[in-house]
Amino acid sequence: MKRFLLIILAMVIPFAQSFSADKAPKKEKVKNVILIIGDGMGLAAAGSWMIDNAYAPTCFDRAQFVGISKTYSANSRVTDSAASGTAMACGVKTDNSMLGQLPDGTHVPSIAVYAQEKGLSTGLVVTSYVLDATPSAFFAHVPKRGMRKEIIDDLISQKLDIVVGGGRKYFTDPESVPENMIEKAKREGFTYCATPEEFYQTRETPILGLFAEGNFPMAIERDTDFLKDAAMHAIDILDDNKKGFFAMIEGSHIDHAEHANNAEQMTFEMEEFDKMVNAVFDYADTHKGTLVVITADHETGGVTLLPGSKDFTKGDTGIDVKFSTTGHSGIPVPIYSYGASSWRFGQVMENTEIFSRIKALLIDR
Ligand SMILES: [Zn+2]
Repeated sequence: MKRFLLIILAMVIPFAQSFSADKAPKKEKVKNVILIIGDGMGLAAAGSWMIDNAYAPTCFDRAQFVGISKTYSANSRVTDSAASGTAMACGVKTDNSMLGQLPDGTHVPSIAVYAQEKGLSTGLVVTSYVLDATPSAFFAHVPKRGMRKEIIDDLISQKLDIVVGGGRKYFTDPESVPENMIEKAKREGFTYCATPEEFYQTRETPILGLFAEGNFPMAIERDTDFLKDAAMHAIDILDDNKKGFFAMIEGSHIDHAEHANNAEQMTFEMEEFDKMVNAVFDYADTHKGTLVVITADHETGGVTLLPGSKDFTKGDTGIDVKFSTTGHSGIPVPIYSYGASSWRFGQVMENTEIFSRIKALLIDR
């Protein structure tokens, strides 16, 4: 038996060595990083979209490397978007609801801030409101994600080049802010855009785009490819910087569809997400040194894909998207990567490693 095992090993090891020699490419210079987050997008959400797409190639099939991210936070095995956003943006595990700081309150800079300090361009494009947890993790430092006034202050003072999404009412509601913060942002030098069309017409950074009172409408409620169009316009502007750029694009509503246990909404969100990711991959194909990393902050809905019958001898009995919670789950999430040095993300890793590896490639290069 032992001998048999040795023979097998002897057969496998040379193969494994030649495989790793082929597959561990040299370090490619990374000029631009586009981090794409599907909020709440677990493997079942991606798998459900593959089924909806009749197994025709999706953006996920096109990824060059696939890894796994462990999403637990400092104080919970089930994270929220604030702690996991902070993990990916700033490289530290913190408590749920905290943004841009350690559990003890120490502020930590985000990858966008490192990029800004290095002279790169920076942008955030989301379909939720821009003060929501995921985008805020890239510029804010607050102990509670609901501290919108402080988050707006941080947004204005950090002055990333592009911040677009929804959330107009939070900037103007006299109940929560002392003055009209859109006017304040303009005084501080921001170009303000109230609609996607205004955004598509401008290139004057820094740009603050607030295209809805709260969240931008879900994909099912409109017939535009907003996420793709806004992401590609942002990239087109950021791309003017010869030094490179960091962009974070979030399909925020995947999470909302899953919280609502609404499979139809989820499909529409995944379809829009897929179009955006494919457009970003196309950009990476034609712009050397572009790394694209696609992942989720956590899984939402405990999504699973179940057959119509437990009797698998019957062949295909249909397949249903089922949810096991209206909240988040602790299921690890996939990481898909594409382009320059994308092989660095083809492993099982802590969510904080997403920050560390991007920083090593883009900042410490
Ligand atoms: Zn959520």
